[in-house]
Amino acid sequence: MTATDTTPGPDMGEKKMSLTVKIMIGMVAGVILGVIFNMIDSAFINTHIVGGLFGMIGKMFVNALKMLVVPLVFFSLLTGVTGIGDIRLLGRVGGKSFGLYLATTALAIGVAIMLALIIGPGKGFDMTGVEVGGIEGKAAPTVWNVFAAIVPTNPIAAFASGEMLQIIFYTIVLGVAVLMLGSRSKGFVEGCEYMNEVMMKIVTIVMSAAPIGVFCLITKTFTEQGIELFIPVLAYVFTLTGALLLHLFVTLMLMLKLLTGLNPFTFMAKIRPAQMFAFSTASSNATIPVTLRSVTERMGVDNSVASFCVPFGATINMDGTAIMQGVATVFLANVYGIELGLVGYLTVIAMAVLASIGTAGVPGVGLVMLTMVLGQVGLPIEGIALILGVDRLMDMIRTAVNITGDAVVTTIVAKGEGKIDLAIFSDPDAGVLTDDDIHIDEAAEAELAVAAHKH
Ligand code: ASP
Repeated sequence: MTATDTTPGPDMGEKKMSLTVKIMIGMVAGVILGVIFNMIDSAFINTHIVGGLFGMIGKMFVNALKMLVVPLVFFSLLTGVTGIGDIRLLGRVGGKSFGLYLATTALAIGVAIMLALIIGPGKGFDMTGVEVGGIEGKAAPTVWNVFAAIVPTNPIAAFASGEMLQIIFYTIVLGVAVLMLGSRSKGFVEGCEYMNEVMMKIVTIVMSAAPIGVFCLITKTFTEQGIELFIPVLAYVFTLTGALLLHLFVTLMLMLKLLTGLNPFTFMAKIRPAQMFAFSTASSNATIPVTLRSVTERMGVDNSVASFCVPFGATINMDGTAIMQGVATVFLANVYGIELGLVGYLTVIAMAVLASIGTAGVPGVGLVMLTMVLGQVGLPIEGIALILGVDRLMDMIRTAVNITGDAVVTTIVAKGEGKIDLAIFSDPDAGVLTDDDIHIDEAAEAELAVAAHKH
């Protein structure tokens, strides 16, 4: 049997079906059922089955992922910092990843704007009958405020509210202090390493529920999303999807190949589960555990690099979101017949990059950021009403692009620092989920029972 994530199917005898395949089946079944439910449009199904049961299971699944994010980032980053060997590496990893994240986001939106200017979605758009209004703009943050907010006044509050940049900052400071105390920290460091392993185990447990979780989430989305929402803005949807796919398959993969020499196909195969999680949840943040697992266990990136780059990227790097903002700006400028000019578009690029730094990767945040961008270049923010209806599906696609960008940059930085195990990267079996990962192994159980008996 070939090497993929293996978990045995219930009545398949010896034959095993990979987890990735199961999640895909869940997604496809969800799309089909969702479209059928949408056509039937029964109040009972919509309220009780989709809104009720499926909504509940989907929410539990996303909650379970989110439940992992803060403790996982804390323990893996702490072990990353304390196990780094050379503290200067931390500075280099931080600097390189920050530079690459900004550069990829700027490149993404630049290409998207050019593509949109060539295709010209929104030209001759008929605004009659379109209801606008009810959209509130958000003021753009200043660069200074964005950076000042990275230092938490109260770390407990930062952890409680999941402020990712503050958590990263605090954990790094803590890790450096632990390093300074040298051998006295041994017990604490071992405890953190152990907790990191425990958290990774919980990731595998939650991932094993993904086929059902994903099925429920996708069914719900497609039941709620009628095709009629797409028709008026089809040109926008096509341009945006094209720009997203171009970035995903061409720009990012070229960067990976040119800067690391690694095989993009292997990379794509290994990041796929994380992309599916991102697509289903529309949240880079909730996908952190899966992205982290993919780059470390499946691609061989060392935890000292991945534990920093992945949560950092999920927070500040949003290539897909920037692409959406670029295409949306051109679309709305065309709809309103406003000429933005070179300075206008450069402002859009700068704003989108800045806005992405302080905003967490959660569903729909891209639209909030879009209000800031539009406000800066004087486009009417009510125009967002036009694309609101299709935003959920676009959010799902762009989130998958966002986390792929995070993983590409993480791999590039790791390769540059010699912190990637190439044997793991090229081994298709590496880190695949097996049934053993979600079973309590008997030896471990017996060991614990003996230990408990002794006390
Ligand atoms: N949902 C996206 C993310 O979590 C952000 C957005 O574009 O709305 O990465």
